[in-house]
Amino acid sequence: MDCKLRAKNCGGCPLLGLDYAAQLKQKEEKVRALVGKYGPVHPIRGMEQPYHYRNKVISTFAPGFGGKLTSGIYAANSHKVLPVESCLLQDEVLDKTMQAVRAAANACRYQPYDEDKGTGLVRHCLLRRGVATGQVMVVLVTAQPVLPGAKNFVKALLAETAQRGVTVTTVVQNVNSRKTSVVLGEAEKVLYGKGFILDTLCGKSYAISPRSFYQINHTQTEVLYGLAVEAAKLTGKEVVLDAYCGIGTIGLTAADHAKQVVGVELNRDAVQDAIGNARHNGVKNARFFAADATRWISEATAAGEKADVIFMDPPREGSTPEFLTSVARMEPKWVVYVSCNPVTLARDLATLTKLGYKAEGFTPVDMFPHTEHIETVCALSKLDIYQKITVDLKMDELDVTAAETKATYEEIREYVKEHTGLNVSDLYIAQVKRKCGIKERQNYNKPKAENPKQLKCPTEKEKAIREALKHFKMI
Ligand code: SAH
Repeated sequence: MDCKLRAKNCGGCPLLGLDYAAQLKQKEEKVRALVGKYGPVHPIRGMEQPYHYRNKVISTFAPGFGGKLTSGIYAANSHKVLPVESCLLQDEVLDKTMQAVRAAANACRYQPYDEDKGTGLVRHCLLRRGVATGQVMVVLVTAQPVLPGAKNFVKALLAETAQRGVTVTTVVQNVNSRKTSVVLGEAEKVLYGKGFILDTLCGKSYAISPRSFYQINHTQTEVLYGLAVEAAKLTGKEVVLDAYCGIGTIGLTAADHAKQVVGVELNRDAVQDAIGNARHNGVKNARFFAADATRWISEATAAGEKADVIFMDPPREGSTPEFLTSVARMEPKWVVYVSCNPVTLARDLATLTKLGYKAEGFTPVDMFPHTEHIETVCALSKLDIYQKITVDLKMDELDVTAAETKATYEEIREYVKEHTGLNVSDLYIAQVKRKCGIKERQNYNKPKAENPKQLKCPTEKEKAIREALKHFKMI
């Protein structure tokens, strides 16, 4: 599949040149390479129809031919607008809607905003479609509060969309007078309809306003949440934490199968949406807090709160060591990590596995075909104390003999210091152990400095280490 925008440096689909099956394989392999050592990586869940999945479109207005206005997307790494008629990723209904918006704006003689000069009226158009409900929202972003002939614009827009077989549910004017690349401004005026659209996701209904965060790919979000909730093995009795919850979608999907859901999210608007969504769906066992997830969970653990299941869906930077430590202190039976970046997932897993959690498996989900993004669901179970000891031993003492397990390097070092006042390095201990026929860890065995001669254990220290080994009954 090719696209003429690609040749014009669109940059939106870096993997388009690669066959879809090969894209999926590449993503699955990437996940395996990063996290495969922690548990099995199941086949990636791709899309049957990997096109036109974006339910949200942002189009920027620019001058077109013959004094008419056009619109499209910025070319990669530039501020040049590439006119877009249709796009392989966008919902086709939204392509048609955008054509109608351009026709209506041209009929009203609206001028595109010029960033450099600060002239013109219309800046961007944001379109959203509820894939399950078919409802369509048009948000016209203007540089000034006054939209001349707003009623005529709406009338022209409804006629143009109807001609194209599209029904628009609501039209909103958003005012952004700042010199910024951020699309939406603060002020909003509803020109037609209710100012929001509804969509259904995993059996729950969501109200989506212009600024609401909402997952872009409806089909694959249902796959992702389905896997996440299934991994938590809920029975209806659990206290569930949904950390980094956005508008509460994962927690609300899980709420019917849990005793109680608590969602935590930094973005206040998203939390307001989450609370509204819970109410609107009649969900009574969910509460949402606006807070930094790390801070919130640290305070909750300090207060002795526990959770049976923790869902965590952090941004690309992943989570924090403090958050993960608190997760372990809450002692959930299951941690379900939904990741949008396998690199930070791998980093966070290194911590979680040390804290007594074991990755049962990973399922990559292709939420963004033709782009490099990879989403992964990982279920981690809490090891019981006996399993944990075994794993700790395996990780720590992987290739040591029984003799070596008798005292750690630290204990030997401390013994030597206490009895002789000498400081001995792990390397020296390793050398002496080897001389005594005790197998030592490989990494300590290798000289780390340029000149190995300098690192030979001095006789006096060797004697002290031998004394310590005798004391610990290792020789
Ligand atoms: N679970 C949601 C959102 C995931 S995106 C969904 O599936 O739709 C990650 C979310 O983490 C965003 O909503 C972002 O606002 C939030 N976030 C980022 N940093 C955070 C922090 N330090 N504490 C809490 N939430 C944070």
